Amino acid sequence: MRIIELNETSKKNILENLLKRSPNQYEAYANIVDQIIKDVRNNGDKALFSYTKEFDKADINEANIKVTEEEIKKAYQQVDNKLLEILRKAKKSIEEYHTKQKQNSWFDASKEGIILGQKVTPIEKVGVYVPGGKAAYLSTVLMDVIPAKVAGVDRIVMVTPPDTKGEVYAGTLVAASEAGVTEIYKVGGAQAIAALAFGTKSIPKVDKIVGPGNIYVALAKKAVYGHVSIDSIAGPSEILILADETANPRYVAADLLSQAEHDELASSILVTTSRKLAEEVSTEINKFLESLSRRDIIKKSLDNYGYLLLAKNMDEAIEVTNEIASEHLEIMTKDPFMDMTRIKNAGAIFIGEYSSEPLGDYMAGPNHTLPTNGTAKFFSPLSVDDFIKKSSIISYTKEALEKVHKDIEAFALSEGLSAHANSIAVRFDENYSN
Ligand code: NAD
Repeated sequence: MRIIELNETSKKNILENLLKRSPNQYEAYANIVDQIIKDVRNNGDKALFSYTKEFDKADINEANIKVTEEEIKKAYQQVDNKLLEILRKAKKSIEEYHTKQKQNSWFDASKEGIILGQKVTPIEKVGVYVPGGKAAYLSTVLMDVIPAKVAGVDRIVMVTPPDTKGEVYAGTLVAASEAGVTEIYKVGGAQAIAALAFGTKSIPKVDKIVGPGNIYVALAKKAVYGHVSIDSIAGPSEILILADETANPRYVAADLLSQAEHDELASSILVTTSRKLAEEVSTEINKFLESLSRRDIIKKSLDNYGYLLLAKNMDEAIEVTNEIASEHLEIMTKDPFMDMTRIKNAGAIFIGEYSSEPLGDYMAGPNHTLPTNGTAKFFSPLSVDDFIKKSSIISYTKEALEKVHKDIEAFALSEGLSAHANSIAVRFDENYSN
């Protein structure tokens, strides 16, 4: 893996290279996605069935699009008991973590006759996209559904592409049932997102769509935003490890590789103050590569977006870490908690050498749907907040309003809004009209 010394030019080049992976850069796919969305909007189920035939090679129709109780029972019989036990353990820790995020409505009553507050209401209907195709994403089902459940969402509608026999992977069905999904439909890609956004005869329209997917899914979510809400546009996975000479090079190498295996666009970056560590990590990576099953993907990913970056000191290392704003950040330094306090931008921060990233993917409890492509500068991990909305509560007595009525009227008139002023004034002077 390449070792690069940080300076203004190398920093600029690396940041530009990393941003090339953003789904915002794939406008070439936008036309086909727009066409699919229009078609589903105009032709509903007919378009859904025909795209599922074209892209997933599956015969789906009104009678078999919805997963039945029977199919779920069969899935439970196919799933290994050990896996079920692990799923339930993971569910418990994800539930416990997300329950702590729950916000309550609040009301403040002052003695002057004013009640102000904020009413928290769960979103009614949520659509969860679960990718199909290349891999099984059981953990994604848990991570997307459990916060919705904790928030109190009534209807959780899952969509996922079927295989060529028109079936959904048994593990996905079991995870969905364990997490509390209300209904599951066998449809994927941009057509599934359009169906959730606008509704078809078979698929209900929802209020918000969450969940990762390939470029067609990501661009479709972007296109329907405004008709419905979405969580985020997920890009390829990323890890950045901030380490000094005290870090174990074997652990650093193993953790960099864990993200590189996701896909060829994944990025794996070490930022270190120690040249010796960078060199040892490079050697360890070569050793591990010999035995890893997805080494072809890993090699391409490391060639494209893998870097061992050498900083002059910890200040520079932290500055570039904040600039890259990685989805996952591991800190393996002498004083990781102190260094963590200087981190401004990262999706999830893993502290110390026994907190490796896959722990957060499956078991620890925090959500693994995280901001990618530098968006940790302004986005947060998926959470219970994504499944609620807030309404402001305002209540004044006559006496309380009387104390401010002149100010409000003057404010409204300064904006030329006499009907606003009138609606206040009429409560204190029957004859008032501006
Ligand atoms: P997918 O379900 O996202 O996409 C499959 C669908 O793509 C098909 O149903 C089809 O409708 C559509 N499609 C395929 N080829 C098409 C074409 N030529 N034109 C129009 N539509 C087409 O499954 P996938 O492809 O396996 O991708 C899954 C993605 O989700 C991966 O990129 C993976 O990295 C990502 N993922 C991310 C996370 C995360 O937390 N960030 C978690 C799990 C998966």
